[in-house]
Amino acid sequence: MMPHRKTSPAALRFAERRQRENDAPKLSTQVPTLTRLQLEIEEQSGVGGSKHIRRFVIEHAPALFLVACGDERCIDGEHDLTTGVMHALRAHEKSFRGSDECRGSIGPSACLRVLHFDGTAEYRE
Ligand SMILES: [Zn+2]
Repeated sequence: MMPHRKTSPAALRFAERRQRENDAPKLSTQVPTLTRLQLEIEEQSGVGGSKHIRRFVIEHAPALFLVACGDERCIDGEHDLTTGVMHALRAHEKSFRGSDECRGSIGPSACLRVLHFDGTAEYRE
């Protein structure tokens, strides 16, 4: 028999993020001319950095850009890039960048991991 496991805090945060994404307006209704979007995300901490690219399916993507903190020990670490990204998309910018500092905490101290993003977007004429 499988041991009964309590829902972990990480799973709860994941579920909560899902819910917010479901509740958010669709990207395609917010920026109807947008045809392509990708974000190159780079996270930096004291020991190094990691980089990955997120591509969005415009028809289905919510107008919400949340990236979980890359540090597993970080509590409530999350980067909300929505304001910066939506501002750039509404202005029809083809490339844009920004950064966000993690407001989560690791034990008694603040996480302060910095996430940089480089966005590339295309629009219909
Ligand atoms: Zn963090």
